[in-house]
Order: sequence, then C-alpha cells, then structure tokens
Amino acid sequence: MAKEKIQFPNPKFWKAKDNINWKKQGENLKEVLGIFGDMLKETDWKDVGKGFVDGLKADGERVKGEYADFMALDNKEKWDRVVNGERSLGRLYRKGAMATVRREWRGVKDTAYDFWEWAKMWGMLLGTFSKDLIPAMNSALWYRWMISYFCCHGFMDKNIMGLRGSNLRMSHEVTYQIFRYVAENLVFLSKADRKNGNSEELNKMLFTFDEMTMGQIAAGFPDLLSIPHQLLPMFLVSEIDQLVCIPYIDAVESYGLPSDTCPVPSSECGALVINALPDMGSCFISSSMPCDGSTMASSYFARRFPNIPVFHLCFPVRYLDDENTIQMGAEDIRACIKFIEEKTGAKWNWEHYFECMKRFNQETDLELQKWEINKSAYPQFIGPSYELFRKWNYEMDGGIDPRVLPSMQKVNKILMKAYENKETAWPARKMRYRGIVWSCPAHYYANFSNWLANCWGIDILVEMESLNFTKHLETEDKEEALRDLARLYERMVMRRHTNGGYQNVVDECWRQVEAWNAPLVIMYQNVACKNMATVQGLLDEQGRQRGYDLIWVEHDLMDPRTVSRRTMRDKVNEYMRTVKQAEPVDPSLVEFEDEVCM
Ligand code: SF4
Repeated sequence: MAKEKIQFPNPKFWKAKDNINWKKQGENLKEVLGIFGDMLKETDWKDVGKGFVDGLKADGERVKGEYADFMALDNKEKWDRVVNGERSLGRLYRKGAMATVRREWRGVKDTAYDFWEWAKMWGMLLGTFSKDLIPAMNSALWYRWMISYFCCHGFMDKNIMGLRGSNLRMSHEVTYQIFRYVAENLVFLSKADRKNGNSEELNKMLFTFDEMTMGQIAAGFPDLLSIPHQLLPMFLVSEIDQLVCIPYIDAVESYGLPSDTCPVPSSECGALVINALPDMGSCFISSSMPCDGSTMASSYFARRFPNIPVFHLCFPVRYLDDENTIQMGAEDIRACIKFIEEKTGAKWNWEHYFECMKRFNQETDLELQKWEINKSAYPQFIGPSYELFRKWNYEMDGGIDPRVLPSMQKVNKILMKAYENKETAWPARKMRYRGIVWSCPAHYYANFSNWLANCWGIDILVEMESLNFTKHLETEDKEEALRDLARLYERMVMRRHTNGGYQNVVDECWRQVEAWNAPLVIMYQNVACKNMATVQGLLDEQGRQRGYDLIWVEHDLMDPRTVSRRTMRDKVNEYMRTVKQAEPVDPSLVEFEDEVCM
C-alpha cells in the first residue's frame, strides 16, 4: 500500500493570499537604504581594509600552524586525526571573528555525514522560504532579528562541535525538526504580519501566544495556525546570536524599565517599544509567568497592538500533591478555548485534540527511554541539540506535528543500538564527570554543555527544564483532559522549578542528582532572577553538606554585557583547576575569544 503523504502544516495556510501594501514597503525600503547609506558614510574603510588583511594573515598563520602540528605527529596519531578528526577545537575561534574560522574536521566518515546534513538543511530552508519568498525576505528589511537567522547553520555547527558517531546523527535529526518548525513559522509570520505580507486570510486563521505558554491548546484547533509571538523574534534567535536583543534591552531601559529586570521580559518589552514584533493574528494568549517583568510584557503587548484581543491564562503556582486548584486551572483552559472560538470563528475539535495527545504521550515515552539510557553508565544522547529539542517538543510541538514522532522513533532506534554497543556519547577521553544543569538555563548562549564536555570532560546528562512533567495526558474523558491540560500548563518552562518554591527547586535538585548519579551540578545564576536568588544560600549550604560539586555560573541570559561568555567559562575553569585539581581534556578551549562570535 502506498504510504500516505503527511499534509502538515495545513496547505491552506500556505495558500492564503498576501495583500502587500507596496507603498508602505517602498517607504520602509527608503528608510533602510538611508540607514545603510549612513553606515557606509561612517565606515572607516581603512580600518575595514586592515581588518581584511589581518584576517588573511591570521588565516595564513593558522594554516601554517595546523600543518606544522599535524606533521609533528607520529604516523599512528596522523592516522587517528584523519579517521577520527581533530582534537584542538579552540583553534576554530579567532578574536573578533563573527563565526568560527572553518568547519570542524570530524574524520572522513563523520565529516561526509555532517556535510550531507548541512546540505539537507540548506535544501529544507530554501524549499520552505521559496513557498512565499517575498514577505519572508522582506522581513529582513523590517526586523534586525531576522538577519541573525541567516547564521542558523553556525548555531547548528556550534551545538554539535566535537560530536561523532551516533550522538552526531541523533543531534542532526532533532535539529532538523526544530529548524523546519522555525523556517515554516517564519514564513507564516511574514505572510501574516500586517506591516509586511498582510494576509488577512491567514490572520483570520491565526492566534498567537506568549513564548512561555505551551502550544498544546492548538491541538484542538486543526483549522487554525498558532505561533508563539515572541519566540522566533526574541528568545530562539537570541540563542543563535546573543547580541541580537541588546538594542531592545537598551530601548526599554531608556524608556524607564529598571535595568535589574530579567532580560527575557526586558527584550520582549523593548521589542514592543520600538515596534520590532510582527502585528499578526486574531487574538493573543498570555500566561501568568510569575517573574517580575513578564506581567509587564503582556501589558506592553496590549498597548502596542490594541487591535489584538488578549486572554490571560492565570494559573496558580501550586505543585506537588496539591490538587485543590486544578479545577480552577481547567476552567481557565475552558474559558481560553471559548475565547479562541469567539475570536476566530473556529470550533474546538476533541477528536483531533485526542489524536495529537496520543502522539504526545508516545513522544513522552520515547523521552523517558532516553532518560533511562542517560541515567545508566553509558549515556548516549546528550548535548545542546538534545536539550533544545526536549524543550521545543514539550513546550511548542506537543504532538501536533505528525512528522515529529517518526523522527523521534528513528532517534531512539539509533540510541538503543548505540547503548547495546556501549558507545560513548563523546569520544572516550571526554567522559570524566557526570553532571546536571540547574536553575535558569543559559547554556545555549555559551554553548555550555558542549564546551563542558569538550574542554573538561563534564557530561551534562539532563537539564532542569527537561524535567517539568512526564504524566500521560488524558485522551478519552473530556473533563479529565481539561484538568490534565491545566496540570501541564502549570508546568510550562521557567515556572515549576524557578517559581515553584523551596521543594521544587532545592529538594528536587538533590533528588535529581541522585537519580542521575550526577554529583556535579552546574548552577546557573541569572543575576536578574529574583526568585532563584532567594534560594542560592540554601542550595550552596546543602550542596556542600552533601559533598556535591556545585559550580555557580553567573550569567544574564541574552545580555552578555553584564556577564560575558568568557567570564562564565572562567568560573568552571577556576573550579576545575583549584577544587578538582583537574587537567583540561582540550587545553585549547580553556581560554579563547568569542565576544562577537555567534
Ligand atoms: S524564571 Fe528567572 S530567568 Fe526565567 S524568565 Fe523568570 S526571571 Fe527570567
């Protein structure tokens, strides 16, 4: 029997007619050209020429150095480098360079495979953007954040640095799923944006939600498109390019927002202040993420887009065995569904919702299988690609895209085979310490899990935000299904642990350290996260009493001016040298310059 072709996303979203106001585009183009003109006039061309010549010289020196190092190896080592790849990854960085100086040599087989995946990704991106190229490309003239997406391959390369074999294959597979979601939604976002594609046909079928709100509610609306409003223009792109949100943070601070506010809501508010978010959709769902700046981000949204009605999902912050407030959450979900129905004219479809949640439950089982393997002596699928995928799958995909389950099944097949063969997730010499990541995650900015393994042999087995919720969601009883949705939504990213109180962040941390047999904890301390600051002393004291290695790494998420990536790495370097008296696995990665490198 011929395999049924999966039609996702709904073809009518692609077919929705654009209604571009060319006069408005002309005015914008004039403004952009004016900015370019000013930039060209102010450019010090002598300096540019010198930078170019210096770059060529540095490349020449690097090639000479690499050649000399290779020739100094004995024959066995030379063969090892050809077959298994290079070992000094620090030489991929150069001071002042915006990207790594070249691609990594992973050995013949893995380099060929990596190149194939690189080309496949380009094919997917070009194919997706060509479905409605003009508004998609035009977005780059409206929004500076769009430009950073041109570097997405660099982000992929960074996340898989040092990987070989099965872990490399699994990382590529999940990265593809995320990138496809991003590419498709960037095209839809550009089509719908009233400044740009201005497709009212699509806007009628579109509702948006804030970036911390779970995507699962869209499973009941197969005729609607849903897009997390700030996720693509702010949060995700900031992980590709940590410098991208700085203008937004500055904008809102000059508007009066205190500079000690968390950069997540600050960036969102700043982007709204300078009109850097798309105007799209029939309605917007915000959620009660109880951090200081987040509530404000919703009100900034309502002021910037008075044409878009807002629904506030207001869940209590109650976890553990406290079920008293669940019905209240379920009623909130019911009201939200009604709100979406009223604003879009669409009807909630239980059959489709249950179908998607059955898929999501299967995906949760596959995730739990990964955990079992990673808890064992032979962890297999670890690193930033895996961490990012878990977050995306849990929070945004939620079983809605039917293409994701087969991909996850493929990954778990590779995983089980690698486990049976007792493979190592990183080349053998990079497996020294078992660790977990706790507190507000900053690892994508500094590519931290990857760097920890490559530089010090610290294997991060799991990160805090992956552990939010694994209960199967109800797929038959409608009332219980709403209650389950409430349980799920209460455990959205940056909520249960960071805002859930002592038991959820302190007790839970020690429980996870034991479950994963990982006595080394990378404690991310967001200098602007007040909730987490309240328990820092308790974590420190109890961690010491238990004999765990707690490495505190200060950071300020998407604002590297407060704490640079280099300073973050230095905290680990210092701890490993002084407390653990360890030698780095790759000394070239202990100190390197990446201030402007994406
Ligand atoms: S939990 Fe902390 S880091 Fe996360 S958004 Fe809230 S303030 Fe920011």
